[in-house]
Amino acid sequence: MERKKTRRIMVGSVPIGDGAPVAVQSMTVNDTRNIPATLEEIQKLASVGCEIIRLAVVDMEAAEAVGKIRKQSPIPVIADIHFDYHLALKVLEGGVDAIRINPGNIGSQEKVRAIVDRMKDKGLPIRIGVNAGSLERDLLEQYGHPVPEAMVESALRHVQLLEKEGFYDIKISLKASNVPDTIDAYTLMSERCDYPLHIGVSEAGPLLSGTVKSAVGLGYLLAHGIGDTIRVSLAADPVEEVKVAWGILKSLNLRQRGVNVIACPTCGRLEIDVVGIAQRVEERLAHIKETMDVSILGCVVNGIGEGKEADLGIAGGQGVGIYFENGEVVKKIKDTDIEEFIIQQVEARAQNMRDGKIP
Ligand code: SF4
Repeated sequence: MERKKTRRIMVGSVPIGDGAPVAVQSMTVNDTRNIPATLEEIQKLASVGCEIIRLAVVDMEAAEAVGKIRKQSPIPVIADIHFDYHLALKVLEGGVDAIRINPGNIGSQEKVRAIVDRMKDKGLPIRIGVNAGSLERDLLEQYGHPVPEAMVESALRHVQLLEKEGFYDIKISLKASNVPDTIDAYTLMSERCDYPLHIGVSEAGPLLSGTVKSAVGLGYLLAHGIGDTIRVSLAADPVEEVKVAWGILKSLNLRQRGVNVIACPTCGRLEIDVVGIAQRVEERLAHIKETMDVSILGCVVNGIGEGKEADLGIAGGQGVGIYFENGEVVKKIKDTDIEEFIIQQVEARAQNMRDGKIP
C-alpha cells in the first residue's frame, strides 16, 4: 500500500505525515475545566492506544486548564478552539502541543499573526478543521450545498491565511457526516496540497453504524494512501473510538498493536461458546500492547487448521478445548476453564515478549 507523500509535522513527540505511522487520536468528553476527570479519561484512552488527545477549550478557565492537564498527560495535547483567538493565546502561555483553529474565523490577519508568531517561536503545528456543517456563506451560495469542492476551497482559504504569515506547520481535516463526501473531499485535497491530513467521518453515529461508516470511509482513504492521523467519531465512549481506529489500521496492516482475536462465525459443529469467550477475551486483553494472534474456534474439524497461523488458540472438543501454540496441539483444557486459561497464556506470552524471551 503506497502512502501519499506529505509534509512532516510533530504533535509533541508524535510525528505526523511523511511516512510516519498513522497516529490514533481522540477527544475527551469530560469538561476540560474538570482537570482530574479529564486526566483520568486521558489515562484510560492512552491505555487502549490513543496517541494524541484533543480538548475542547470553551472559555478562559478551560484554556488555563489545558497547560495543567498537559503537564500530567501521558500523550500530546491539542487545544480545540473556535473563533476566540484570546483562548489560543492563553493556551499557548500555559503550554500545549498543537492548536486546532480556523484562522478565517478569528476576525483579522493581525489576530492570525499574533497566534502564528507564537506558534512559530514554539515550533507548534496548527490543525485546520473544516466541517461540512459550518462552511462560509459565500461558498454555500456558490456551490448550493456543502459539497467536497466547497470544503476543499474553504480549507485552502484558511491555509492561505497561514501561508501569508510564512507558516507551514499545518494539518488539515475535512469532515462530512456521509462517507462518499468524506472520501471525495480528502481525495481532492490530497491532490491539491501535501499537508498531512487528519481523516475522519464526522458525527458517524452510534457504535455499530458509526463503526461501519468509519471503517468504510477511512478504510477506503487509507487503502489509497491518504491519511496521516485518524479520529473515529462515535456517539459512544471515546475508548470505543480508539479501539475502532486501531481495528481499521490493523485490518489494513498499517499498524500492529495488541491481541488480534480470530474467532470463527460458528456453525452446527460448534462445541464451545465461541461468541462469549471471544468477546470476553478481547475485552479483558485490551490493555495488552504486544502483538499476537489468538484463535478461538468452535470445533476441531476445521479449527486447528484454521488457527494454524495464530500464535496460540483453542479449538472446541466435547467438553474440552484443544489448546495449540504455533499450530501444534499442546494440551486439553476443561471447557469451563478455557477463558481463564487463554487469558493466562496471553499475559505470560506478553510478559515474555517484554522480557525479550520471545521476539
Ligand atoms: Fe463451524 Fe468448526 Fe468452522 Fe467454527 S471452526 S465455523 S464450529 S466448522
